[in-house]
Amino acid sequence: MPELPEVEAALEVLRARARGRTIVRMRVLHPALRRRLAPSQLRALVGARIARVERRGKHQLLHLDDGRILHAHFRMNGDWMLTETGAPLPRFARAVLDFDDGSSLVFVDSRALGTIDVHPADAELDLGLGPDAADPEWTAEQLEAALAPRRGPIKPALLDQRLVAGLGNIYAAESLWRARISPFAPCRTLGRPQITKLRKAIAAVLLRATGSRYTDDDTVALDVYDREGLPCRRCRTPVERVVQAGRSTYYCPQCQAANPPKPARSAAKTKRTRKAR
Ligand SMILES: [Zn+2]
Repeated sequence: MPELPEVEAALEVLRARARGRTIVRMRVLHPALRRRLAPSQLRALVGARIARVERRGKHQLLHLDDGRILHAHFRMNGDWMLTETGAPLPRFARAVLDFDDGSSLVFVDSRALGTIDVHPADAELDLGLGPDAADPEWTAEQLEAALAPRRGPIKPALLDQRLVAGLGNIYAAESLWRARISPFAPCRTLGRPQITKLRKAIAAVLLRATGSRYTDDDTVALDVYDREGLPCRRCRTPVERVVQAGRSTYYCPQCQAANPPKPARSAAKTKRTRKAR
């Protein structure tokens, strides 16, 4: 699933190739997107220029010169593809923006869960997001304050875009591994030193991943995500995977030892356990 680094990489493409372009036509090819974008909205895009592009968490905002916003979200596996107008479209093309320079921007999405919306110029755009995970001004103090009132474990909390925007299942796991924090640790049991480590780990993980896409297997070697049964890169203990809040959580049971112990009802997929140190 595209997370902050992958969305940022997509935005780089938009900054280079879509910014400054005038929309000649927008076509919507999938029924799910047609339900979001009325024909009149699509017609009204003709002649608008993409003034700037902005990322907020995993959301992409293409600001038009008249104040309207073309708002895209990749969800599970959307992506942009640039092509020449009139060139054959890829199999999972869901929407196409034709530009004045003869290029086209294609929204490609095999699962068709990605979204595109048009917001009017005067709309107050509240995406319900917390601080951006890549924002250098976001502090450990702020994270600590946001975690303090929370019930439940840290891993699902990191996926909540209201707590911090931009993280998904992959980089939440990577950040916790790097900070040596158990994914099962209740949020409010984390002390300042751990939260400071976590804040730094998030920054480091995102910095390393930015500009890559997780599907490019060679670009970023993940430390813990999708490595079930493989040795932890720090301590060689086999990485475990459990289902936590409906999502796979990967962690090292040795260097991310649960303290207090992880809940008994978490559906561990492996029998191997180690005592917390
Ligand atoms: Zn380990």
